Parts: sequence; structure tokens; C-alpha cells
Amino acid sequence: MASALETLIKILRLEQDTGYKNTAVIGGLHSYIPNWSRDAHQQAKTPVQHNLIEELGKVMTEYGSLEDRDKRQASIKYMMGRITGRVQPNPAYAVEWISPDAPPAAAPPRTTSGETPPTASTAPSPAPARPTPPRPPAPRPVQPPRPAQRPPAKSKFDDGEDDDDGEGSFKEDVITSSLEVIEFVGSTALDRKSNIRAPKPRRIPRKSGDIDAAREVMGHLNDRVQNLKGVGDKRAEQLARLGIATLGDLLFFMPRRYDDYTRLLPLSHLKPYQQTAAIGTIQRIVELKSREGRPFISVLVEDGAGKINVTFFNQPFLKRMLKVGMQIAMYGKTDLFRGELSMSNPEWELVDQRSLQQGGIVPVYPLTQGLSSKIVRKLMREVLDTWANRLPDYMPESVLDRTEMVDLGWALRQIHLPQKWEYLEYAQQRLAFDELMLLQLGILAKRQVWQSVPGIPLTVTDEWAQSFLDGLPYQLTGAQHKAIAAIRQDLTQAIPMNRLLQGDVGSGKTVIAAMALGMAIANGKQSALMAPTSILAEQHYQGIRKLFAGVSGGEKVNIQLLTGSTPEPQRREIYEGLANGSVQVVIGTHALIQEGVEFNNLALAIIDEQHRFGVDERGALRGKGTNPHVLVMTATPIPRTLALTMYADLDLAVLDEMPPGRQPIETKLLFAPERERAYSFIKHQLEEGRQAFIVYPLVEASDDSESRSAVEGYEELSTTIFRHNRCGLMHGRLKPSEKDEVMAAFAHGEIQVLISTSVIEVGIDVPNATVILIEGANRFGLAQLHQFRGRVGRGQEQSYCLLISDSDNPESVERLRQFETLSDGFALAELDWQLRGPGDLLGTRQAGYGAIRFDQSMDVHLVELAQKESRAIYAEDPLLTMSEHQLLARRVRLLQERRTDLS
Ligand code: ADP
Ligand code: MG
Repeated sequence: MASALETLIKILRLEQDTGYKNTAVIGGLHSYIPNWSRDAHQQAKTPVQHNLIEELGKVMTEYGSLEDRDKRQASIKYMMGRITGRVQPNPAYAVEWISPDAPPAAAPPRTTSGETPPTASTAPSPAPARPTPPRPPAPRPVQPPRPAQRPPAKSKFDDGEDDDDGEGSFKEDVITSSLEVIEFVGSTALDRKSNIRAPKPRRIPRKSGDIDAAREVMGHLNDRVQNLKGVGDKRAEQLARLGIATLGDLLFFMPRRYDDYTRLLPLSHLKPYQQTAAIGTIQRIVELKSREGRPFISVLVEDGAGKINVTFFNQPFLKRMLKVGMQIAMYGKTDLFRGELSMSNPEWELVDQRSLQQGGIVPVYPLTQGLSSKIVRKLMREVLDTWANRLPDYMPESVLDRTEMVDLGWALRQIHLPQKWEYLEYAQQRLAFDELMLLQLGILAKRQVWQSVPGIPLTVTDEWAQSFLDGLPYQLTGAQHKAIAAIRQDLTQAIPMNRLLQGDVGSGKTVIAAMALGMAIANGKQSALMAPTSILAEQHYQGIRKLFAGVSGGEKVNIQLLTGSTPEPQRREIYEGLANGSVQVVIGTHALIQEGVEFNNLALAIIDEQHRFGVDERGALRGKGTNPHVLVMTATPIPRTLALTMYADLDLAVLDEMPPGRQPIETKLLFAPERERAYSFIKHQLEEGRQAFIVYPLVEASDDSESRSAVEGYEELSTTIFRHNRCGLMHGRLKPSEKDEVMAAFAHGEIQVLISTSVIEVGIDVPNATVILIEGANRFGLAQLHQFRGRVGRGQEQSYCLLISDSDNPESVERLRQFETLSDGFALAELDWQLRGPGDLLGTRQAGYGAIRFDQSMDVHLVELAQKESRAIYAEDPLLTMSEHQLLARRVRLLQERRTDLS
């Protein structure tokens, strides 16, 4: 809801600036109500927004009669706070809005989420209880998975409702700040589990300076690293390999982990099978050969109290690097070899004496040839000395006040030279918060652009809708009905729809797409559906034609398939039909957004499995029409909070209900010794005439020989156990056309066992495939495993998902055990988020806005906080033109420029 609220904010500001004399509007605020509230109600999308408008009307009515200035000031502040979602509703003003024209029995009122709207009085508070704001670092708390029945989703603008538990955070902050008097935590006596925490430092008051000068300094963030003292071409080239080209890249380059030299256990206290860091002095180095003849280096490390045997395989060059008497820090998993403590192939480096003196928390950076962590640390120290204090903090002070975030310069220092664990945590929080804010402001800015151009309203009659439903071979689920109602409502607007339809694999998104396409046809307009692969496009083409065939008049629809492999003459015909309007619906792949494809009147663009497309590709399809309505669909379950950030420019509809009669997929966790059993099970399924997938984790060029690559797996399996079966191989290095061929052969049953890397993830439908075996299952996120599992169970037969773990780490086993029992993709996504951070869930989607690098800090609380703040800023000042937002605007621009620079 853009302009009416924005206008009101302007008026309220004017009233503030003119001293609360009730003169901002001629005749007083109350005389402005009728016109304003009419406009506002027209723009409102959710009951919560309607309620807010009524509430504001009430406050405005009262405003003129308030006598003293303070009361008026408070009243204006209250209204602004309500609009931006920062203030709780005062029950005295609570209003329940009743639509004048909606009969009570009509279709459910529309919400942006397509779900039953919460009302002011009954809104549940779905947010989990918030932890104390400065939370302990990893491990993150494991919360029970979300129950299958989700509370009604909140709409995009009802931020006020989120706040039911908002008070809590303030109370806790009071507690933290009362600790400031007793700062006694020494940096060597840190106890991370203690409740006594080092307080956040006070922020340094900002000089009210020259914005232009500050903008100028910020511009240096995009300076090449070569401009830095001590960085020559060679160093720059090494840095470039780590993705660091500019000063900004370097400052925001995050350590991979931190080693705590102060808390290292003596070697005598180490236990086997633990991931740990250790320090000791090299006593002996010998070269040996394993029984299979593999050479390795064996190093004995001691620390006076104990010792550990360290072996290095495949690193003959270490012979030259390691010397007796060196003090080294190692990081790896301890083991037991012939009863003695050992470690193989740990990461290691010389103990950094300088870091040891500096509080003992040592950042370890991602490495590249020729550039050790130690060198990066040294470089960072120099860069920070110059830049940490010079760089203006772009985040408005008011935001930092409200969120209790620390200063930017301080945060950067602590990230690279942490003094205390708590400080590091505050710093990570701040940078994670920034990342979320900038991400969201970037996305919202796009929303602003496309919403400003009108779209084409599409309306259909209830009779039309009914006859379409009557023609379907099944009854829609309740969730499907809701989604369709939301879409139908969107399409009637002159503001183009931009909606995300999220639904688990098999929840029935295609039929919703088909109905939306039908609505465009009914309005005499063209529509398009784009899928990531030609197999999927083909599947949609067949499926949607079949659906249309059941609907009266549907068989006459001119619907075409356009992919990379569409033969030339046909392709030209389709181009022509699209340009002259005779082709009504086109279904295809990237081929749809090629140059030369022109539509006569594209009014609706649908994108399936949208996480496979970049922001630009979405934009390209949109650009084929004059601001068409857009529906994007995804089977990747993303927790709602996160989805609202990642897809801040989209309204959300969720299919949280499966069509009836689905058989649950039997899921079983196995360990390596049980692999043969798994193979015989598959063999048995093949004999029954079924098909199978075998998935391998991607193997990067690493020394981790445990994980078996798909290629090796194929070579082995197709010549041994499955040698009498037709095996196929699929991996990312195949050309798209080759992938399509393999998939098609599998879909047609020509291939019985498809051996693959994770590329098969996308929604292919092969009902005859009943078993999927996933190797190295512990290496995948739960959400991704769930996608794999969704490849089977699409037909009538009982289906199976077998997981093989190559780790017996209790945490990872527990995670997979939960996967065995949970079948709800959203619950799994939530669990993933809690256990592994949002990285897995976001995949590469975020790439357009700077990578998300603060997994650990990005919990629900922080994401919500950033959401609220960025939306508040957006509501107040969508173009970031206010003086307090200038630096923020500059930062957003710089990030954009940096990205364009990269591409
Ligand atoms: P996805 O959401 O993964 O794209 P699909 O649209 O491919 O799911 O639907 C999966 C299967 O469920 C299809 O075979 C479809 O015909 C069927 N289906 C969809 N909706 C219903 C329903 N309401 N009742 C029964 N079957 C349905
Ligand atoms: Mg689908």
C-alpha cells in the first residue's frame, strides 16, 4: 500500500514541522479524513490495513481537540509509529473494519498471503519466543519443528501484529545494560557459557558533518585493492581469486572461522572423534607408506603435557614446510589410531604470535595459493587502521538506536581482530543485519519501480470460474482454492500482480497456473509459462493441454510449446503467432525470453521453479509485455520469515495441503556397511518394473576421498550390481541438450537407474520411479534432501527414499533421523535454518544482492528486525531521498555498481 499512507506521512511531518498547530491541512486534520480514507481503503489489501486506516481516522478526528502541544506531538508520533509498524496499537483506538460491500458469505476476504486474515483482536503470534537479544553463539538451539498446522500467515504490511512479543526484547535490554556497571570480564577468563556478558560498547556520537564528504569517502569502498598500500599486482591477483577486487570486498571479507587460542585444551585433554583446534610443537617428522603403498607424512606434536600423531596424506610439499621445533595450530577431527590420539589432514598454520597476544581469538580466512590466513590478517590490520574509523556509518542512527546495533567501524574491527567472543558476536549481528537490510531495500526499490506502471486488469465471472473447476478431473484442495482466490483478486487490479506461489513438491501448483492462464485467455489476452528445463516445459505443455481439454471451449485454445529444440520452421510460426496474437498461451524454457520473441498483448507471465532463474530472467519475461501480471512458483520451501525478506517484492501464497490419497514415502537412514542391502533392494524394485535414482554429492577437487562422485559411482555400479540394467549418468557438466536427452530417456523408461549429482533436483515427474538412494546424505541440507525425495512417490506405487550417511557424527545422524520421520517440507526448512543457518535455503538465489555470509547470526529474530526496519524506511521514504537516508542510498548504489562491475 503505497501512496495514501505515504501522503499521510508527509502531512504528519508537515504538521510536526509547523509546530502542531493543526494547520498542515486547511480546515484541520479531521477535514482531510474522508478523501484520504477513501483512497487508502481503495489501496488497502488486507483487513489489517483496513483496520489501520480506520484507526488512523479515529486518531485524526481526535487530534484537533487535543489541547496541549505535547499531546498533539504524542498523537502524531503515534500515527507515524503505527504506519511504520514500530508502535503497538493502542486498544483505545482499535477498530474492526467491516467492508461495506462484502456480503459475509462471499469468498474469503483477500489477503496478500491468500490465507485467512488475522484480525487485530485474534491475530496469533506465530513468531517463536525471542531469545535474549545478545544470544550465545553456535550451537544454535534446536527447536521442535513447526507443527503441521501453521497459524494463519501474516500479510505483508501487518507488521504491527508481529509485535505481540516485542516488549520482551526491551526488558531484556534493560537487564543487559544494567550489567554495564560491572564490566569485569577479562579477555583471558572468558566463559562463553556464563550469563555475565561483556556489554555492547556505547556507540560513538556522530558528527553532524558534511554528507557530500561522507558520500565521497564511502565511494572508496569500490576502489581497487591495488590502491592500497602494500598491495601490488601479484597480491591483487591472489585476492581476486578469493573474490576480492575492491576495498569494500576486503573489509567485508569474512573469516571462515575463529580459533580460540586462549581456550585450547592441552593435548592430554583431547578426546578422540572431536572436531577441535590444538596447538603444539613439532617433535618429529617422518615419511611413511600406508599398507596400500600411499606415501604420507607423520608428524608428532607435543605440548609438554601430551602428544598427538598427525598424518598428512597427498601433501608431499609439506616435507619442505614443516620443521621440528615449529609451533603449529591445527584444526581437524581427532581420531584413535592403535590406541593413540591422532589427527589426519588437519588444517594447520604456524602459531600467530601477534594474534596470540591480541586476545587470542584468531580469525581464519578462506585460503588460496600463496595467501595464508596470516598474510590476510596482516593486510586486514593495515586496512582497518586506515578505514575502520574513516568509513561513515551508512545506517541511520535511529535504526541503530532501535535495534541496539553497534557502530559499523567497530564491528569491522571486531570481525577481523576480535577482542572478545561477545564483541565478535555483536559485530556479526551488525553486519548480518546490514546485509539483510541492504538486500531488502534493494528488492523493495525494484517493487517501487514496477508498481509505478499500471498493468492490465483481468476479470472473470463466477460462472467462468465455476465452469473451469467443473472441467477438472479432481476437486481442488482448500489451499488451492485459497491460492486461486488470491490470484484472481490480484489480476483484477491495475497494479500488476507479483506473487510467489510456494507449495511442496506435488502440492498441485500446475493446475493453479493453468487456471490463471485461463483467466488471461478469457480476457482475450496472451499469457506465458516459463520452466527451467525443456522436459518440465514439455510436461507442463502436455498437462495443461489436458486440463484445458476438459474445460468447455478449452480445446480450441491455441497453446504452443517453445523450447531450444523447437525446429526452425515451427519456431518462426510461433514467433509470428505470438506477435499477431493468434497464439494465446505459450509454454517454454529460456527460449521464451530470447530476442525476437514478441507478444501482441502479454498480460500474464508465470515462472515455474523460479529459484532456477535469476532476478534478471524474471525481469526479462516481464519485459515481454507492458508490465504483465507475474506469478512465480517454487517447490523450495523457505521459512516464511526468510521468504518475506528474500522475496520482499512478492506477495506470498502457500499451498500447505496435499491433494488427498498421497502415500507417504518410506524413508530410511543407512550407513556405509548397509550399502549392499540398499542395492539389492533397488535391484528388487527394478525387477518389479520400477525405476530408481541414485544421487551422489558433488565432489569438489578435495582430498576428501570418502565422498564418491557420480561418475565413479556410475562406472562402478553399471559394471557390477546393475550391469544387466540400463543405467544412465547425469551431472552438471553435461550440456543442457545432453541433460534433456538423459532425462527424457529416464522419463520414457529407457533408463532404469539414473545415477546423478544433485542436478536432478528440479520437479521432474516420473511416476514409475519408486526409489531414490542418496549417498553422502549428511552433506545435503534437509530442504534439499526433501527435494530429492519428491522425485519419487509420484505414482500409485509405494515409494522409498534411502539415505546413506558417510558420517557418524551424532548431530548429523540426529538431523537425518528427523528427516526420516518428517514429511512436511516447511517443517524441514525451519529445522534446516535452525541447524545450519539460512545458507542452504537461500542457495544461489541471493547472489544478486551480495552473498549472505552470516549464517550463524541470521536467526528469525534478526531477520524480522531487519524486515521491520527496512519496511519502515521504505514506507517513509521509498526513494531514500531524506537526508538521514542519503548514505544508505549511497551504500545500496555502491553495491549495485559493484555487481554490475562484476558481471
Ligand atoms: P507441483 O506442485 O509439484 O507442481 P503438480 O502440479 O505437478 O505438483 O501436481 C502433482 C500431481 O497432483 C499431478 O499429478 C496433479 O494432477 C495432481 N493433483 C493436483 N491437484 C490435485 C487435487 N486437488 N486432487 C488430486 N490430484 C491433484
Ligand atoms: Mg511443478
